[in-house]
Amino acid sequence: MNAAQDVRPGAAHCVLVINTGSSSIKYQLLEPDSADVRASGQVSRIGEPVGDDTVTIEHHGAHGTSEHRGAIPDHGTGLRLAFELFARDGTDLVTAGLRAVGHRVVHGGEIFYRPTVITDAVVATIDELSTLAPLHNPPNVAGIRYARALLPDVPQVAVFDTAFFHGLPDAAKTYAIDAHIAAAHGIRRYGFHGTSHEYVSGRVAEVLGRDPAALRQIVLHLGNGASASAIRGGRAVDTSMGLTPLEGLVMGTRSGDIDPGIIAHLARTADMDVEASYEMLNRNSGLEGLAGVNDFRALQAAIEAGDRRARLAYDVYVHRLRRYIGAYLIELGGADAITFTAGVGENSPALRADALRGLESFGIAVDSLRNTAKSRAARLISPEGAAVSVLVVPTDEELAIARAAAVLVG
Ligand code: ADP
Repeated sequence: MNAAQDVRPGAAHCVLVINTGSSSIKYQLLEPDSADVRASGQVSRIGEPVGDDTVTIEHHGAHGTSEHRGAIPDHGTGLRLAFELFARDGTDLVTAGLRAVGHRVVHGGEIFYRPTVITDAVVATIDELSTLAPLHNPPNVAGIRYARALLPDVPQVAVFDTAFFHGLPDAAKTYAIDAHIAAAHGIRRYGFHGTSHEYVSGRVAEVLGRDPAALRQIVLHLGNGASASAIRGGRAVDTSMGLTPLEGLVMGTRSGDIDPGIIAHLARTADMDVEASYEMLNRNSGLEGLAGVNDFRALQAAIEAGDRRARLAYDVYVHRLRRYIGAYLIELGGADAITFTAGVGENSPALRADALRGLESFGIAVDSLRNTAKSRAARLISPEGAAVSVLVVPTDEELAIARAAAVLVG
């Protein structure tokens, strides 16, 4: 959201959405009914040694873009400084009359499967769920704690990435491992990016003018992280991510599906313990591991320049994606809609075309003019009259979180 001139002032009735990562805080202030974005920004490189000149907060408000430069030692300092940029831009969040603060929380475990008003007990439980999401829940908890301290009178709501997949059928959510061990340790497929899959599948029904209850959908959320879901009648029946966001599709730095035997093999033969393998699978695999770049645009540029590793990485990415599309077509008994979303899904016509190439006999095709048209709107890219609607729908997790929070606090 860079178009500062589009930002209208005022925060009354708005929701502040906060998405805290290990070294970043993304935030957006928006009016949930109109979807009007009043301000947005990002705190970056939290806890990293950076020069005094390095921009670590970029804030887009009613009066343009402002910045903070220099090191941000911790999440609390980052959020406080972001609040100062709000104030300098004319919005004092403490007195603004905010409706709620909505927090993106990655793992809700078996416990949280709806948006939940945050209390001390809720924070403690989200913290306990860190064993299931050690990279994600601890920063989420930090964001919640600091936001509650800064805005003690504003209701705060947690919206969980896992919630949409809570009701996965048993056959889809169960790993075929020792059932006693699985039960004792909460091991099941939880799924992630649920807020996006739910929001996008709802938008698909709107765009097609169809009742969501009547639709069989495949949603492909392809960003830095990537996941696919199969949705029948508005309910998720399968998804590619599992106990953690590591399973499934090839991602920027994550491997997606592998033979778990690789971990044992590396422990025995390469002196790599479990933590070293976990680190490799999360941070140095996927596109990064295969081609040395995690960004899809950089990958495409490398392919253009004739880099064969980049070409292979792309082919592996597409191969995995098509495997999931095929699986979900069978699970759903055919699809009414296949939808691309998130950074890669929304912006790469080449990837969309390759993902669905040669599927005409299944009623699936991409119209090349529609696919390459420059547009940021939700739109159809299949030919007129095709049996399966193929769409591009921009995701908007912030809006979905803001709306969920607003509904909950009334
Ligand atoms: P996140 O998972 O961090 O929310 P995004 O949904 O923003 O990620 O997706 C980021 C990915 O989208 C990056 O790999 C980026 O290269 C890719 N991307 C963004 N714009 C384009 C584009 N025009 N063409 C191809 N890929 C793009």
